[in-house]
Amino acid sequence: SKPIVAIVGRPNVGKSTLFNVLAGEKISIVKDTPGVTRDRIYADCTWLNHHFTLIDTGGIEPDSSDIILSQMREQAQIAIDTADVIIFITDVRQGLQDADSKVADMLRRSGKPVILAVNKVDSFAKFMADVYEFYNLGIGDPVPVSASSRLGIGDLLDEVVKHF
Ligand code: GDP
Ligand code: MG
Repeated sequence: SKPIVAIVGRPNVGKSTLFNVLAGEKISIVKDTPGVTRDRIYADCTWLNHHFTLIDTGGIEPDSSDIILSQMREQAQIAIDTADVIIFITDVRQGLQDADSKVADMLRRSGKPVILAVNKVDSFAKFMADVYEFYNLGIGDPVPVSASSRLGIGDLLDEVVKHF
């Protein structure tokens, strides 16, 4: 059967925006309110003759005891367990957060291949210098992308399909 690719990261980093770009249609709800995607959402995707199933998740807020946020964390963990490859998204505008490091630890424990996407790099000239700090996650080379401006998407998918 087709490989499964899960998109994970903190709320509001742009998971659903990226999901919609990769799915080629607007399936997932994008909102400024963090954590709006509460269920896992699936789409069939193709890149360079590779077919895969993509899963959007509600997001992971590692330390929260809030019931909804902890349910989202559980759903994300199920997606991680199901996935063959994980796209871990962070936000260059917010910079590297403590919660990103905790998500990175969760992902390392999964033993799955992880592609680190640094989103909201809407201008490479303006934001590229801020991408380098994400090397500190120790999870590999950060791939700069802008989901909303559709920049870096091909490079990201090239990295994903290498693991199929
Ligand atoms: P999620 O909670 O991780 O699913 O994040 P969403 O996809 O719902 O996006 C959260 C907010 O970030 C929305 O206001 C999006 O329009 C915005 N956003 C997503 N991708 C980008 C991007 O590449 N650049 C910028 N500037 N904003 C983005
Ligand atoms: Mg979402």
